[in-house]
Amino acid sequence: MTGIDDLPVRDELRGQSPYGAPQLDVPVRLNTNENPYPLPEALIDRITERVREAARTLNRYPDRDAVELRTALARYLTRTAGHPVGAANVWAANGSNEVIQQLLQTFGGPGRTAIGFEPSYSMHALIARGTGTGWISGPRNEDFTIDVAAAERSIAGNRPDVVFITSPNNPTGTAVDTETVLALYEAAQAAGPAMVVVDEAYGEFSHAPSLLPLIEGRPHLVLSRTMSKAFGAAGLRLGYLAADPAVVDAVQLVRLPYHLSSVTQATALAALEHTDTLLRYVEQLKDERDRLVSELRSIGYDVTQSDANFIQFGRFQDASAAWRAILDRGVLIRNNGVPGWLRVSVGTPAENDAFLEAARTLHKEITA
Ligand code: PMP
Repeated sequence: MTGIDDLPVRDELRGQSPYGAPQLDVPVRLNTNENPYPLPEALIDRITERVREAARTLNRYPDRDAVELRTALARYLTRTAGHPVGAANVWAANGSNEVIQQLLQTFGGPGRTAIGFEPSYSMHALIARGTGTGWISGPRNEDFTIDVAAAERSIAGNRPDVVFITSPNNPTGTAVDTETVLALYEAAQAAGPAMVVVDEAYGEFSHAPSLLPLIEGRPHLVLSRTMSKAFGAAGLRLGYLAADPAVVDAVQLVRLPYHLSSVTQATALAALEHTDTLLRYVEQLKDERDRLVSELRSIGYDVTQSDANFIQFGRFQDASAAWRAILDRGVLIRNNGVPGWLRVSVGTPAENDAFLEAARTLHKEITA
C-alpha cells in the first residue's frame, strides 16, 4: 500500500502528524473549547433568511473584500473593546486558523521564523510548518505565565519575523497582561522589526481589558479573533483580525480570491445582529468557569488561573491514564501533552456536573 512517505512530499512534512483532537461520540464532550449552547431559534431564523437571500446570487462570486461583514465586525469591536476601529482595520477569513495562515504567508515563509511561548496553541507551530516558516519554541515560567526577561532574550537572540502571544493562553487559560504585550512588542521592534500577533480567540471570556487600543500607532501589532468561541459558531468558520490598515492591505497579497463564501458572510452577519444574546451566554459560561475552578480546587486539584472558557487542572503522575479514566465515565476532555495536566472546556451546568463527578471519583482513586 502506498504511504505518505512514498509520495514526494516536502521534507519538513515527513514523519509529522496532523492536528487531531479526537472527535469521539460520547455523552459529554468538553475537549475542543466549543461553546456548549446551540444558537437561539431567533438567530437560526435570521440565518435562514440571510442565507436564502444570499442563495439568490450564488451564481455570482461573493464580495471578495467582505466589506459589509468587516464593517459589522468593526462595529462589534468598537462597541465591546471601547476603541474605534473601521472596516479598514479588520480582515476576515475562514476561522482564525486561516487568519493566522494568511499572516504567516505574508510575514513568515521560507527563510523566516516565528516564535511562540509554549505550551500554547499547537496550530501556531503547525501553520508555521505548513507555510515553510521556521518555528522557535520560547520559554514560560513554572506557573505558565510568560517569563518576560527570558522571552525578551529569546526574541533578541533569534530575531524572529513573527512573535505569537496567545491571550488567554491555550491550553493553560491565563490572560497576558498589557505590560507584557508591550514589553514583547518593544523587544520585537528592536530585534526585527517583527510582527506581533496576539491570538485573542478567547478574549471575550477574559477579565483583562481588550488590547484593541494598542493597535493605535503600532503597525506591527495584530489581534486575531474568532466567532468560534464567544459567538458559539465554531461550525461557521469565521475568524478576523484587527490591525493597522497596512496589515489588511498586506494580507491581500496572499489571500485566495473569494475565500469567504457568500453563505459564510451572510451567516456571520446574521450572528452579529444577535451579539447581545450571544454575549449573555458568555456571562453564563464565565460564571460556570468560576464555579468549576472553585469545585476543582475543593476536590484537591491544582488549577491554573483561567480567563477563558476552559480550565487546566492537575497534577497527575500519569495524565494519559487520568484522561482515559474520565473518558471511561463518559466525559471527553483534552490531554494537550502538558506533562501532569489536563484541560476541560466549560460546558452547560449539567455537563460540568457530570465532569465534576468523574473528576471527584478519579481524585479519590488516585489519593486512596
Ligand atoms: N487560536 C486559539 C488560541 C484557539 O484555541 C483556536 C481554536 N481552538 C483557534 C485560534 C482557532 O479557532 P478558529 O479557527 O475556529 O477560529
